[in-house]
Amino acid sequence: MPIGGSKQPPVITELEEAIVVSQLSGREWDVSGSTSRMLGSRVLTDYSSAGFAKIAALEGGESLEFCYGCGKCVPVCPVDLVSEYGPRKIHRGVQTGLDLFRADELWMCTTCGNCLRVCPKQVNMIEVMPAVREVAMADGTIPEELQQVMEKTFRYGNALGENPRRRHAWTRGADVEVRVLANDPRPVDVLFYVEDYWSYHPRGQQAAQAFARILASLDVDFAILGAEEKTLGDSQRLAGEKGLFEALMEEVVEVLSKYQFKRIVTPDPHGFNALRKVYPKHGHNFEALHYSQLLASMVDRMEFQGRLDAKVTFHDPCYLGRHNGEYEAPRKLLEAIPGVDLLEMGRCRENSYCCGGGGGGMWLDGFNSNHVSERLSERRVREAADTGADILAVACPYEVSRFEDAAKSTGNEHLRVMDIAEMLDIAMRAQDWRS
Ligand code: SF4
Ligand code: SF4
Repeated sequence: MPIGGSKQPPVITELEEAIVVSQLSGREWDVSGSTSRMLGSRVLTDYSSAGFAKIAALEGGESLEFCYGCGKCVPVCPVDLVSEYGPRKIHRGVQTGLDLFRADELWMCTTCGNCLRVCPKQVNMIEVMPAVREVAMADGTIPEELQQVMEKTFRYGNALGENPRRRHAWTRGADVEVRVLANDPRPVDVLFYVEDYWSYHPRGQQAAQAFARILASLDVDFAILGAEEKTLGDSQRLAGEKGLFEALMEEVVEVLSKYQFKRIVTPDPHGFNALRKVYPKHGHNFEALHYSQLLASMVDRMEFQGRLDAKVTFHDPCYLGRHNGEYEAPRKLLEAIPGVDLLEMGRCRENSYCCGGGGGGMWLDGFNSNHVSERLSERRVREAADTGADILAVACPYEVSRFEDAAKSTGNEHLRVMDIAEMLDIAMRAQDWRS
């Protein structure tokens, strides 16, 4: 049964005859008919708070029952736009008997963080959902497609189930030398933490190659871990696999401890989030930057041989923007490219829409398809196309493939999806982005 997808209009009642009398002046007002229009009264006695006890007992699950139903979270929830969702509706569901531990709704939240931004009661779905999902994982009641990703991550150290020895296969097409620390362990300035989708996905590999060329052109001293790299696993953590995340973290830290570097730079906002916010809670402190931040600090040194001459719109990744407050660096880079006309979408920056990939959503499109009227990525691509842009620029490795698929399925093939690193590289080398 679909959870949502087609909204039910509210029941509207009108009193045929209604007179309101002022208690002060005694004056009467006729508010009959449409003047008395109101929504049908809600039954407020048909709920129980019993369902919250098991959730509130979990570390991170406490805040769901803080909800007092103001409804601010619903219109900003990207999932609600294509379904029936938002913390208020989940809260109401639990009040009226929804077993969140076994409900399909448990897997639909992308942990995008937009509800927390507006919630006066600090109901924190970024903590509630992973806490409940962890129990569902332990009980074995998780979607099959997510289970497979967890197994691949456990076995191979990456969500795609690729051979770890092929981690740095992408470097062969970079046309610049990319140092692998295991082969040359000298101290390095920038440890480029490539993460899964730039390492293995064909479109991600192109962005990784572009980024390596940019670093080389700026004389940045950088190196990668190659086969020693494993995913930082933040999306697996938010999908409920805290144990797997922590095991990965110990392995990552052990590898990192072998080398000397000044900072870690990653293209993946999820990995960036883990390094900035989660690793320090476990005593692991590294200077971490998103790749857009490193490049934005060097933009004055970039030499562009060509122009892009394109209208461009930019999708703020939830885990770069809302979760880590970085909105300017990607825009600074785009504005530096000659011939870029930057057009903002209505939903941008703090209120950016979500591509649907966070919190495990990257691997749940099939599961969620029964519950949404369209994928979040499809919704976002239509918003991008409505700006009249030629290019949808992204700064998260999940997004190129998500949005390219969505551009096809929504009939917007004319909209090119490109990572900012690719766009910079094309303009620096005077290539034609249309070819
Ligand atoms: S914004 Fe917060 S308090 Fe208001 S309905 Fe949503 S979760 Fe409840
Ligand atoms: S975190 Fe995002 S997807 Fe999840 S309930 Fe809040 S607004 Fe909706």
